This record gives sequence, structure tokens and C-alpha cells, in this order.
Amino acid sequence: MKTKEIIRKAQKFADSFRVTGGKKFRLKDFDPANTLGIKSEFKPRAKEALAVGVQALADFQDKLYAQDKWAVLLIFQAMDAAGKDSAIKHVMSGVNPQGCDVHSFKTPSAEELDHDYLWRCMKVLPNRGHIGIFNRSYYEETLVVRVHPDLLEKQKLPEPLITKKIWAQRFEDIRHFEQYLANNGVVVRKFFLHVSKKEQKRRFLERIENADKNWKFSASDTAERGHWDEYMAAYEDMIRNTATEESPWYVVPADNKWFTRVIVAAAVIETLASLGLHYPEVGEEQRQQLAATKARLLKK
Ligand code: ATP
Ligand code: MG
Repeated sequence: MKTKEIIRKAQKFADSFRVTGGKKFRLKDFDPANTLGIKSEFKPRAKEALAVGVQALADFQDKLYAQDKWAVLLIFQAMDAAGKDSAIKHVMSGVNPQGCDVHSFKTPSAEELDHDYLWRCMKVLPNRGHIGIFNRSYYEETLVVRVHPDLLEKQKLPEPLITKKIWAQRFEDIRHFEQYLANNGVVVRKFFLHVSKKEQKRRFLERIENADKNWKFSASDTAERGHWDEYMAAYEDMIRNTATEESPWYVVPADNKWFTRVIVAAAVIETLASLGLHYPEVGEEQRQQLAATKARLLKK
């Protein structure tokens, strides 16, 4: 398949799930089981399409790295067992590890809590030419911390700053931060892997029943499940307040892993394709130098 055709298909797939303006956004309009009408019999075809996509992505990344100007930051947020790890693993499987880094953000350490919440994320923003992946991110500050406001107290914020306005302020700060990144050539794309409560239950049970998956299971994950509706409300409000033209959210259906991967790959391809990437051009002087070096090499 030609690159142009791959880009066109990627745009077609990713378009349905991109949210750029938040005000009309309702999570209930997005079905976690949506596969755009593609039946599961077509799973093998989807796998083939993913392989083509992964190759295209690797080609784009090579140019991104060579050009060394843009940086790309992909942020993944989701409830447990939505498939963040496997989406990252499959979609990025073809890229050169030298130009890609993944960071997971867990419960903040004592050192991290001694700083503002963006600090730990800013330290590991991707270099120019790189793709950086955040497995969870500063968005947790509007999700888990919002669902469990007692976490705010551990953040050592001065009391007068903890007010009802804190979530609106965090959204505003995040919007400004991402605008700042965009203005500096760091392209931010955010993914919410949208799994249903029913499918999460199935995956948790699988983790318990399958010995090889036991390690993935954590009892605290089921506790968070008890706050499902609060999390969904927090996700909805977060997307409404932080989806912009420059840093959109993709609300990716996550009940079918094969489909999740296709959509994430499509969104990354669409993003890289929009940057007009190309290998750096060699100037006349450098071309002459190359010709002279070639001549010398051939003589020896
Ligand atoms: P997996 O379970 O697939 O290995 P994970 O991303 O769920 O990956 P865990 O170690 O299970 O990793 O969970 C990380 C936990 O850290 C999550 O429950 C998340 O809500 C929590 N966390 C992340 N950022 C913050 C934060 N800023 N404040 C409080 N808790 C946070
Ligand atoms: Mg977990």
C-alpha cells in the first residue's frame, strides 16, 4: 500500500474518535465496544492492517529523528485493564528504541510530592526528534486525585490554595502547559482507552483465573472499580476541559483490543503525517564534500 493511501485510511479511522473541542463532549456518545461495524471475523485483516501501520509509523519516526525538530508526546490514560500497556507495546513495536521513550507515572514519591505536580513530567518530556510516551500522566491530578480528594492533602499544598476552584485551575494550567509545548514544537496527543465496566470485570476475572496473568492483578484495582461512576464523570470533565485543536483527545473504544490498537496506530500515523516530515536536505557544499570523499574512498 502506498504511504498516501495508508495516511488516508489512518485519518478515516482516527477521525471518528478525535475530540478537539470539549464543550459538546459527552462520554455516553462513545461506545466502548464500537468497531465501526467491523466484525470480529475481520480480526486477521485488522492485524494485517496494523502491521502495515506499524511499518509506516517506523518510517515516519526515522524522519522525525533525522530531522530533529519536532517532538511527539503521546499520553495514555485509562481505567485498569483497559489495555494501555498492550496498546503501547503493539503500536510502538516497529519503532527504533533510540528515538522513543516510555515513562509510567505511579503514586508520587516523597520527592515528587515536594514539588508542583508537573515537575516529574516536565523532567522527562521527549527530546526533539523523539516520541515520548506517558503511561498515565499529570492528568491523574484531575482523575484519581479528584475521586480521592484526601490525596490533595498529601500534596503539601498551602491550605488557602485548596479551594473548590482547584479542578478548574488545574484544567486551565494544563491547557496552558500544552499550548506552551505546542508553541515549542512538542506535539501532544492524548488517548483515553475507553473500556466498559463489564469488560473490565471479564479481564480482572481472567487475570485471577489464568496463572500467567496473576501478576497483573492487584486488589486495589477492584477497589477503584467501586468508584466507576465518579471516574467516568472525572474523565468526561477532563476531556471537556482539555480537548483542543492543537492537543486533541482520542476517545478510543477499548472493549476489543484488536480495534484499540488499530485506532491508536491510526491516530499516531495521522499525527506524524501532519508534520510534513522529511529527511534533512544536503546543501551544495556538503554535496561536493560527499563527492570528494567518495572519490578518495574509491582510490584506496
Ligand atoms: P498496570 O496496572 O497495568 O501495571 P498502572 O498504570 O495501573 O499499570 P499501577 O502501579 O497499577 O500502574 O498504578 C499506578 C497507580 O498510581 C494508579 O492507581 C494511579 O491512579 C496512581 N497515580 C498515578 N499518578 C498519581 C498521582 N498524581 N496521585 C496519586 N496517584 C497517582
Ligand atoms: Mg494498575
